[in-house]
Amino acid sequence: MSQYDYLIVGAGISSAVFAHEAAKVGKTCLVIDRRPHIAGNIYTKEVEGINVHVYGAHIFHTSIRRVWDYVNQFAEFNNYVNSPVAIYKDELYNLPFNMNTFSKMWGVKTPAEAQAKIDEQRAAEGITDPKNLEEQALSLAGRDIFEKLIKGYTEKQWGRDCKDLPASIIKRLPFRMRFDNNYFNDRWQGIPMGGYTKMVERMFGDSEIRLNTEYRDLIAAEPDIADRIIYCGPIDEFYDFKLGTLGYRSLRFESEILDEVNHQGNAVVNYTEREIPWTRIIEHKHFEYGDQPKTVVTREYPADWKPGDEPYYPINDERNTKLYGEYAELAKSEGKVVFAGRLGGYKYYDMDKAIDAAFDLVESELGVHIE
Ligand SMILES: Cc1cc2nc3c(=O)[nH]c(=O)nc-3n(C[C@H](O)[C@H](O)[C@H](O)COP(=O)(O)OP(=O)(O)OC[C@H]3O[C@@H](n4cnc5c(N)ncnc54)[C@H](O)[C@@H]3O)c2cc1C
Repeated sequence: MSQYDYLIVGAGISSAVFAHEAAKVGKTCLVIDRRPHIAGNIYTKEVEGINVHVYGAHIFHTSIRRVWDYVNQFAEFNNYVNSPVAIYKDELYNLPFNMNTFSKMWGVKTPAEAQAKIDEQRAAEGITDPKNLEEQALSLAGRDIFEKLIKGYTEKQWGRDCKDLPASIIKRLPFRMRFDNNYFNDRWQGIPMGGYTKMVERMFGDSEIRLNTEYRDLIAAEPDIADRIIYCGPIDEFYDFKLGTLGYRSLRFESEILDEVNHQGNAVVNYTEREIPWTRIIEHKHFEYGDQPKTVVTREYPADWKPGDEPYYPINDERNTKLYGEYAELAKSEGKVVFAGRLGGYKYYDMDKAIDAAFDLVESELGVHIE
């Protein structure tokens, strides 16, 4: 006899949705995570009264109504609107590329003037068949925007020259011909007041959770602990990497507490020149309009990934896509294990997409449809 209906591996947002819905229909669940905390990568930790986004800045945004309705059961969202700025040398620009950006860059005042300038810059490059990311970006945006806002940032992100990156990374560049610095086009956006950890804690409710617990160790000790297993860890690791290792890009974060109220005046500031090694500085208090006496800032450095490092961004190139397909094929013959979440599916999911995918899992596994 198994002790639990479900063993849920990972205590992130994907698991939290499943655990919440499973408990509602009377299933017994054990949730484990090898980390010492819940909430996975959306974990926020209070430092100096400020909710620090420990695994990178997280802004909730969605156009999926059922997801928005769902998360609002567990947290009140503030009206934060993501409006990052970019610093290139001694110049400061608004993002995403919009009329404020163009006005600062070229002194233009109207959309027609901005469009004429963009068209002129694109034509000057004379690129009709871009062979790499540099040519692609130049053909879409022209020299000024490429040099100042795309080149250095992209090269830091990927650890490679834009000339050595495939054109396919940038399919199109959205230019917003309005004076509007709202980064996302989604219908809803905000930050859960009090932090993501509290929201996830409410989702887990009374679920039994064991932290600092590695799946492999638990299952070796108690192989029949649950009837079914929802596995939100890396799929290749589950199979001992026997077909190969899936690749990721990683990140390194350096945080410091500063004895000042307001360091940079914005939650997210991108650094777009290559000579500065970090891509962004996050000032966490601004996500919740904090006025604490101190502030916490985090520098974000892109990093190569090797097994053992934190896997952040899957690299969905040809090799990894094929390899993931082979693991997914293996997974089909698992009797009681279902792979889920960003690591189980080897897929970059924004939070809303991770939640929506978890709804689908709830439906297939528990027969419960979430409206
Ligand atoms: C830098 C960065 C910034 C992001 N910013 C945004 C944003 O602004 N907005 C947005 O919507 N989304 C953002 N995302 C995406 C967001 O982080 C994901 O959608 C979300 O974290 C996915 O949750 P998950 O539960 O699938 O996975 P995770 O949160 O990764 O949870 C998986 C958990 O499983 C545990 N685990 C794995 N293997 C084992 C094992 N063998 N035994 C025990 N435990 C195990 C891990 O420790 C982890 O806690 C960002 C992602 C990154 C990388």
